Amino acid sequence: MDERKVIYLLGDPVAHSLSPAFQNAALRALGLPWNYVARRVVREKLPAALRELRQSNAAGANITVPHKVAAIDSLDALDTEAAITGAVNTVTIDEGALIGHNTDVDGFLAALEEARPEGLARPAALVLGAGGAARAAVRGLVRERWVESLLVVSRSPEKGQRLIEIVGGGAEEAGPNPVRLEVLASADAIRSRRESVGLVVNATPVGMGRRAHETPLPDLGGFRSDTLIFDLVYGPEPTRLLRDASAAGLPTEDGLNMLLYQGARSLALWTGCKPPLEAMREALQRAVLRVERR
Ligand code: NAP
Repeated sequence: MDERKVIYLLGDPVAHSLSPAFQNAALRALGLPWNYVARRVVREKLPAALRELRQSNAAGANITVPHKVAAIDSLDALDTEAAITGAVNTVTIDEGALIGHNTDVDGFLAALEEARPEGLARPAALVLGAGGAARAAVRGLVRERWVESLLVVSRSPEKGQRLIEIVGGGAEEAGPNPVRLEVLASADAIRSRRESVGLVVNATPVGMGRRAHETPLPDLGGFRSDTLIFDLVYGPEPTRLLRDASAAGLPTEDGLNMLLYQGARSLALWTGCKPPLEAMREALQRAVLRVERR
């Protein structure tokens, strides 16, 4: 496998992405003379950028904000997770055909499994947000029956309802250990039920960049002491949500491991190689320290 190939990251913006740093470190560690290149693509140019992939020396692509849903229209086939979540973060090329995958689902689950507090089994979960990252989290939690019930908090209840219909899609009726799904307009609505919650996932951008001083859950009272607070946002420092949670003695996890594990799964799809996780982790940790809070 010595042919020089390129893997593209297609999104807008892409300049601050951490993926080139850890994917190029992985390609070097594997001894592949390939390159991972971030390419800013505006919405109108996405179909053309994906068409070009077929004719180029590309091995595939990552798709990021805001194209994860729109990219589907330009692809030839989807894997199960991409079809169920309706979002694609990885594209592979098979004899000229573009195949869409969603490795955020397994990346989320791998990070969650690593952070699972001892003894935590099938708790209720609270997922904040109803966008792309929430779809991946909800799909993973429902697929693995990781939770007994799931409360999605969305400021747009219709969007939350759509999320649980699409991603939960019948799973609550089918098979053993069904997961009960519910949409709430505010986390305050379950104040009295917090004792059953063992996992909180922040899948909103609140706490990111310029909003670093904000938290999507200002009141952390009433949760059990082993409730894992998993913030999918990542950056050089813990978000305010994670700082508050640590101060309250709750276990925490930020979004870096999810980023690492989704990237490792994508790399395996493009190259067929076992991902060099330690080289990727080191490069990611170095790169995140260079990120300035935006
Ligand atoms: P998205 O598709 O734009 O969805 C964001 C969700 O957050 C939407 O439901 C949105 O509601 C809600 N939201 C936005 N601002 C809010 C506010 N002030 N209060 C309450 N809800 C708010 O974005 P995404 O792709 O899901 O990404 C969400 C976060 O996850 C980002 O910070 C991203 O960096 C992170 N993420 C991390 C990873 C990882 O690997 N760690 C992977 C993917 C995403 P409306 O629809 O009403 O606007």
